[in-house]
Amino acid sequence: MNYNQKLQLLIDGKWVGSSNRETIPVFNPATEEVISHLPIANESDLSNALNSSKKGFEIWKKWSPLRRQALMLKTVEIIKRRSDEIAKTLTMEMGKTFRESKQEINQVIETITWCAEEGKRTYGRIIPSRDGLARQMVIKEPIGPVAAFVAWNFPGGNVIRKVASTLAAGCSIIIKPSEETPGTGVAIGECFMEAGLPPGVLNIVFGVPDNISKFLLKSSIPKAVTFTGSVEVGKHLQSLSSQTLKKCTLELGGHAPVIICNDVDIAKVLNKIAYWKFRNSGQVCISPSRFFVQEAVYKEFIRGFVDITKQIKLGNGLEDSTDMGPLIFGRQVEKMEYFVENAKSLGGKINCGGQRFGTKGYFYEPTVLTDLPMHAKMLNEEIFGPLVPIIPFKSLEDAIEKSNSLSVGLASYIFTEDQKSSHFLSNNLEVGIVCVNHTIVSVPETPFGGVGESGYGKENGIEGLESFLTSKYITEISHL
Ligand code: NAD
Repeated sequence: MNYNQKLQLLIDGKWVGSSNRETIPVFNPATEEVISHLPIANESDLSNALNSSKKGFEIWKKWSPLRRQALMLKTVEIIKRRSDEIAKTLTMEMGKTFRESKQEINQVIETITWCAEEGKRTYGRIIPSRDGLARQMVIKEPIGPVAAFVAWNFPGGNVIRKVASTLAAGCSIIIKPSEETPGTGVAIGECFMEAGLPPGVLNIVFGVPDNISKFLLKSSIPKAVTFTGSVEVGKHLQSLSSQTLKKCTLELGGHAPVIICNDVDIAKVLNKIAYWKFRNSGQVCISPSRFFVQEAVYKEFIRGFVDITKQIKLGNGLEDSTDMGPLIFGRQVEKMEYFVENAKSLGGKINCGGQRFGTKGYFYEPTVLTDLPMHAKMLNEEIFGPLVPIIPFKSLEDAIEKSNSLSVGLASYIFTEDQKSSHFLSNNLEVGIVCVNHTIVSVPETPFGGVGESGYGKENGIEGLESFLTSKYITEISHL
């Protein structure tokens, strides 16, 4: 099947191709074939993007929220029309199953729709004055042009969380989607442009990531930076932003604990959590990744997880029979090998999986591991792949101690039907998100983000727009 998405930069409302520019290859992770070539922005492109973003902001901030909403909803209709084709691009460049790609495009549609509506509710407030004479108001204003950088694991979802919320807040945005998965973001950009987005409101650039961020962030034009990716790069971007004091929103890595208590029906829990684990081959920042199971149900949980895991069918995401696609690139496969080798060297038991799969494509078998000491690498470094370490715990205090042992804290999962246990665990987990007895962590109307080294600032929910708004205080007396 052909990859039909044309890869271009979007600078000042114009699509810019590869002529006179370097290109980098884009691979299909299921086949390792080069499927396209991506033009990368030169300094003049980046400079134009910055200036155009400034001009675009001046235009866009004057549009009323209602008018912005109308354009965003028009974009939604165009995305719906192109949804199958964009989902195919997504699967070919990222590897996830076509079914998951369709769900992601649906998430893109829902996010734009929700943000477009919420843009009408950037309410301020009136504060009663001390003497009754002054009228004291707080009004919300868009912060200005925004620079955004996102990871490859949700080529549509990560891009749209940035784009929809900045546009709804009245800001312009320069975004660098991932070079591994560029086509989905470009396709979404095409839909906005077809809907009539003014030039400069959205610019899309690609290149050597560090060169792009250094160039964009040293400029005083972007007033905020928003990033989805690793802790290490998040810290680096915060430090680059400090020169011009940009407001940062950092959605970084996690290592989600899953706490399964003695009182649950294990079959029901497995039905929810096991499939959730292998979504996107485990390459999800909120993926359940450290399984803490109370002693009485520990063995039953392992048996059940292994049974399900053995049935997961690996393959090209475009094939209907595929349950789980490849990892994004070879480096990810090597990371799984590193974790598994380390586990073996520490006496860990491989209950199923434990190796690469096939001879073409970046596949790694879904793998269930037990008998690991708490200092095993995979319990301390983010896995971001299909490994399932299962650890027993005795008391709830023990589960909390194990769960809170890292510097990151993004999502967490609890399974218990005992309300006392649920309250104790959810109150004591040091994380941004707690999900009790289910796995629906992220929808457009609820806040998403972590604590500690998982970053700060939220996406989605009313908090998501706040990242791109400033509060202006006006106090006014009607006469001198
Ligand atoms: P990464 O930080 O290396 O790369 C992520 C993105 O940032 C890529 O597009 C990359 O090109 C870009 N990037 C890298 N260096 C950059 C730089 N110097 N300047 C600007 N952009 C740069 O991360 P990765 O390992 O490729 O992606 C997985 C990581 O992303 C995991 O840690 C995962 O948890 C995290 N992530 C977090 C969330 C969240 O919402 N919290 C969502 C998805 C992924």
